[in-house]
Amino acid sequence: MIVFRKPLEGVERPQMEADVVIVGGGPAGMACALRLSQLIDSHNEKHPDAQLTKENIYVLEKAREVGQHCLSGALLDPRSMRELLPGFEKEAPLDAEVTKEAVYFMTRTGKFKLPITPPPLRDHGNYVVSLNKFVKWLGSKVEETGITVFSGFAGSELLIENERVVGVRTDDKGVDKSNQPKGNFEPGYDLRAKVTILAEGTRGSLTKQLVSRFSLDKDRNPQTYGVGVKELWEVPSGRIAAGEVIYTMGWPLTAKEYGGAWLYGGKDNIVSLGFVTGLDYPDPRLDPQRVLQEFKEHPFVRQLLEGGKMIRYGAKSLPYGGWWAVPPVAGDGWMILGDSAGFLNSQRLKGIHLAIKSGMLAAETAYDAMAKGDFSAAQLGTYAQKVESSWIKKELWAVRNFHQGFEHGFWHGMFHAGLQQITGGRGLHAKYAATAGHARLKKLAELPADGGAEKHLLNDYKGDGKFTFDKLTDLYHSGTKHEEDQPAHLVIHDTNICNERCVKEFGNPCQHFCPANVYEMTEAADAPSGKQIHLNPSNCVHCKTCDIMDPYQIITWVPPEGGGGPNYDGM
Ligand code: SF4
Repeated sequence: MIVFRKPLEGVERPQMEADVVIVGGGPAGMACALRLSQLIDSHNEKHPDAQLTKENIYVLEKAREVGQHCLSGALLDPRSMRELLPGFEKEAPLDAEVTKEAVYFMTRTGKFKLPITPPPLRDHGNYVVSLNKFVKWLGSKVEETGITVFSGFAGSELLIENERVVGVRTDDKGVDKSNQPKGNFEPGYDLRAKVTILAEGTRGSLTKQLVSRFSLDKDRNPQTYGVGVKELWEVPSGRIAAGEVIYTMGWPLTAKEYGGAWLYGGKDNIVSLGFVTGLDYPDPRLDPQRVLQEFKEHPFVRQLLEGGKMIRYGAKSLPYGGWWAVPPVAGDGWMILGDSAGFLNSQRLKGIHLAIKSGMLAAETAYDAMAKGDFSAAQLGTYAQKVESSWIKKELWAVRNFHQGFEHGFWHGMFHAGLQQITGGRGLHAKYAATAGHARLKKLAELPADGGAEKHLLNDYKGDGKFTFDKLTDLYHSGTKHEEDQPAHLVIHDTNICNERCVKEFGNPCQHFCPANVYEMTEAADAPSGKQIHLNPSNCVHCKTCDIMDPYQIITWVPPEGGGGPNYDGM
């Protein structure tokens, strides 16, 4: 029997009072903390008799060290950083400024270079960065301000009283596999906060609780997602220059799937290579990690990487739904930032700058609340107005229909994208509808048994172990570690559905879409289908794909014991 993780009942928990709690120490959360500190410093200079304190502002980060769970391509559009820390380029860890881009359409063995780089993919002036190093640096700036960053602490539950969010409960530590306290048990804290800011990244677990509790997705398009699977390579010199950027469309995906690859040249012959597969593909047997391996087999990619060495691996989901899928971002006691809110420009494949800007706007709102002593829903609601009148809205409004245009395949999508480009983002309709990705999965009975045009993306894959890899070899390079003796943090609400229905209807797609081999169907003589679900939770790289893409929506990702997870050092 699988025992799932949940906060222990009947436990007395230490209480801590806070002004502001920021859940998530990624770019959005750290930018929020930094901007709040700047505003408090300048307030205290101007008002020596009405000082504000930073002592009761906390950032919770589930990784053991700041930045360890941060993964992206990454290209940084410096716009918001220049607002947050003018001149940041002098000290931030930036690999290279982009000086060259190319976009290719790939066929099975050939490629076609677009004669002109489409404007959204022109990256001159942006920076190739390791998001892990960048966030570590941002975190060190926050720590210098005196704001406390609790790393190794996950927010496991929202505290809600009288319909107001009044803080966060952190994870219990020292709970064994059967959900019983161990000798080293430490109950989670109840951090009671005047303002709770959710900056958890894509498909945040507390954000999901909030959205469900207050029906924040009402009248919105469903959020849609992609999953980026990334490998970092060290290649022989002369292959890709530092600051060179390559995007591809097409192969190995067919016109039915949405997605594409990136190759970014960093310092010291390090190449960031990844493939984003839209989590709205029809065939439940498709495997995004396999897609990346197939992509590497293309002669163009092979000649760029051959003779090199894969040094790191990771995966992360990203929100694609755009403006129409953004939920209300502020309410009674809470605000939502960055990827958790869906602030990502899917046409440009960029969200870090929007995450940082949203963090800054939330900080300005929290500061106003502290200065006025007014933490009402009306006061925190000014964050939504700030977003509306900022360049976040302007940028996302221009691409509001972009991803939805691809719902009927690549060529339809290109037609709509072209039309939207010349109509300020409108295209054929004022608002393009969207379908949640999991609802687009087809049943096996509706698909060709051999996979048809997608057969090269299905079935077990071993790779050659040098250039292409199976999941466990890739996973080894993600540095993932969890406390083994703890309940599973992938909560399956009804495993009978996995063992009896899904096995026949969809063939258990969790085995395929999980990039870390967490889900397996093992032989079980007493199970009606002869198979039962088995979990390897300690493999989990926290990408959230299972929470998003499970066809029955019965998987909930909850944070494991704080400190566990991947270690994306240098990624
Ligand atoms: Fe991602 Fe879920 Fe697999 Fe963890 S278990 S790696 S969150 S798909």
